[in-house]
Amino acid sequence: AKASDTGNYMVFDQSMREQVQFRLQIESDMRLAIERNEFQLYYQPIVSLESGKIDGVEALLRWEHPLHGMTGPDIFIPIAEETGLINSIGKWGLDQACQQFAKWKKTQGIHAPSILHVNVSRKQLLDPGLTDFVLQTIRKHDLSPDCLHLEVTESLMMQDQVYIIEILRKLRKAGIKIDMDDFGTGYSSLSCLHEFPLDALKIDRSLIMNVKHVHDYAALLQSVLALADNLGLKVVAEGIEDTEQLIILQTLGCEYGQGYLFSRPRPADEIETLFYSEASW
Ligand code: C2E
Ligand code: CA
Ligand code: CA
Ligand code: CA
Repeated sequence: AKASDTGNYMVFDQSMREQVQFRLQIESDMRLAIERNEFQLYYQPIVSLESGKIDGVEALLRWEHPLHGMTGPDIFIPIAEETGLINSIGKWGLDQACQQFAKWKKTQGIHAPSILHVNVSRKQLLDPGLTDFVLQTIRKHDLSPDCLHLEVTESLMMQDQVYIIEILRKLRKAGIKIDMDDFGTGYSSLSCLHEFPLDALKIDRSLIMNVKHVHDYAALLQSVLALADNLGLKVVAEGIEDTEQLIILQTLGCEYGQGYLFSRPRPADEIETLFYSEASW
């Protein structure tokens, strides 16, 4: 029905119903998506800003939906988290990423990335079987635990802090690294540095985006880098899109970067070709 023959109220009602239906549809499609092999991992390089060489890759989920086409995680991860489906999707993703990473080690030799970054959400960390699954998966693919960086966000702080910190400690004790993702977006950023057992900070794109236009951002970034240095944390700047940003970050002494300037996230076979190219950025 069109707005002209139903009136605004009906249109609003209809679009709400459509939204609810869309969500329910996505949810039920997602339950089948693993079996149907519809999930895929893309990889984005993380580059040493000093040498220009690829240091690691971050695995990022994609869903080739039979109807809607390639769907980004911003659409389906929140629903996966609410329904708990993130636990099985996340396990699939971790296994897949480790398998690919191990394959690169075998086939690409010294050109293979040395670090694999995988995102884990709060729901996954609250799954009591997670630590064992992670360790098993690493062993299964014959990887050393310190190759794996699990990326978490400060939203972990919301609840069950004591339990979450215990899980992170357990993972780190086994040699796995923990990265704080999206650093600088929340209000509690500083306290989470203090509370969380961490190995690296990923500075959010919103900070990097403003660094050339807002003078204060460079100063802010400089303090974050000094702080990370004091805490012995590795730093990755996210969302580097142009050379101007790159140069500022290099000048400030930021060690690692990630962003469209280097490469968008791409399927494994496409990202592979970058392992050989000498820093052209
Ligand atoms: P994230 O972990 O912060 O990942 C970085 C996001 O920034 C990615 O979006 C990436 O494509 C995008 N990005 C990278 N460089 C640039 C840039 O230069 N400019 C701009 N504008 N964007 C850039 P993507 O792939 O859509 O992922 C969105 C979020 O979904 C991720 O944010 C992460 O929180 C979540 N996610 C993705 N894969 C997984 C997964 O396997 N498990 C879980 N739990 N969450 C995931
Ligand atoms: Ca991430
Ligand atoms: Ca991030
Ligand atoms: Ca994010």
